[in-house]
Amino acid sequence: MKIRAQIGMVLNLDKCIGCHTCSVTCKNVWTSRDGVEYAWFNNVETKPGIGYPKEWENQEKWKGGWVRKPNGKLEPRQGGRLKILGNIFANPNMPGIDDYYEPFTYDYEHLQNAPEMKTPPTARPVSVLTGKKMDKIEWGPNWEDDLGGEFAKRSKDALFEGIQKEMYSAFENTFMMYLPRLCEHCLNPACVASCPSGSIYKREDDGIVLIDQDKCRGWRMCVSGCPYKKIYYNWTSGKAEKCTFCYPRIEGGQPTVCSETCVGRIRYLGVLLYDADKIDEAAAVEDPKSLYEAQLGVFLDPNAPEVIAEAQKQGIPQSWLDAAQRSPVYKMAMEWKVAFPLHPEYRTLPMVWYIPPLSPIQSAMENGLIGENGIIPDVKDLRIPIQYLANLLTAGKEEPVVKALETMVAMRRYMRKKSVEKVSDAATLKGTHLNPAQV
Ligand code: SF4
Ligand code: SF4
Repeated sequence: MKIRAQIGMVLNLDKCIGCHTCSVTCKNVWTSRDGVEYAWFNNVETKPGIGYPKEWENQEKWKGGWVRKPNGKLEPRQGGRLKILGNIFANPNMPGIDDYYEPFTYDYEHLQNAPEMKTPPTARPVSVLTGKKMDKIEWGPNWEDDLGGEFAKRSKDALFEGIQKEMYSAFENTFMMYLPRLCEHCLNPACVASCPSGSIYKREDDGIVLIDQDKCRGWRMCVSGCPYKKIYYNWTSGKAEKCTFCYPRIEGGQPTVCSETCVGRIRYLGVLLYDADKIDEAAAVEDPKSLYEAQLGVFLDPNAPEVIAEAQKQGIPQSWLDAAQRSPVYKMAMEWKVAFPLHPEYRTLPMVWYIPPLSPIQSAMENGLIGENGIIPDVKDLRIPIQYLANLLTAGKEEPVVKALETMVAMRRYMRKKSVEKVSDAATLKGTHLNPAQV
């Protein structure tokens, strides 16, 4: 058993309001520089939607890179290493600027200094890349928000014109959620394996994945290789860049910027202990639907005496052991099983986990879709389809997601009964699958 500590994050999607404060504060700290205007180490996606960069989840699209086979091995998609080296200057199957968006600023000069006119001056967008005024912006992150608005308007117009009532009711049944994303600081990182210069490394003590800027030669194999498309090429420096998990802050005992500034307080940081000898086996599990459980299998119980003894023997600092024992990430992922990894079928064993959203919970309860005891009788009736959440978080396996949602409903009911209705613990928990130790 080779014990390692890993810092991870859980995000509670039920609480994300899509305000983008995390993205903006991250940008101010890390990517407000030339060459990375388009880069968002943290972005918040509108789901369902094609994401940022466009279609990053379409793993077949980026064929120039590397692929992790079911046996856990990373292999070039197009044959041997020579072929990859032959391709290296073009590497044509990376996302291009059109797959992100053309970064723009505004013509503030015109806005502030325009002479008096009949209509107020407009701040026209100006391309950061060309310095030219843009007629219109064709695409950008969260474009789906605007499309949703347009659809709503058209549907309402149609209704008022007395036509296509079905169209409006179809709109009423649509759903939307937000998915904040950052580098997953994977236990089995494809970016590290795909770098020909050996410039990407995973830190031994906390598992943070970093790029050595002195060693990076700009091959961009990591951009293709990362299945989450979370490495960005700086076109000014010619080097690749990525989320650093705010390592200088972590080293100083502070949370990441995105966690500290999160308006919804949806982010939890914590340490996990894992057995590094089990990584290959977990990544190689054949059935993708078993990958979530396989990943759970690599984590160690930080309170087990044999784990503590072995960790001390292997030199894990006491402060990390203490942190692992009070880790909210361990509790939510391992004990309560309400948090899940994003796309475990990518086989990189990601370390940013998500609590699935139940919203709109109020209407679900009012419509009788959730039983008195918090059990969801027919998951098909919930507004956000369970299959959709399962495809994001458990490679399509519905059962763990349903169980997590039920646990959250039960917890919500428990807190309400306890704090508002002043009902005792035992009466509240009866008939739910929550146990008193969880509350
Ligand atoms: Fe590397 Fe991508 Fe995993 Fe981050 S998400 S560690 S960039 S493979
Ligand atoms: Fe969501 Fe928090 Fe980011 Fe706002 S700051 S978008 S609530 S993760």
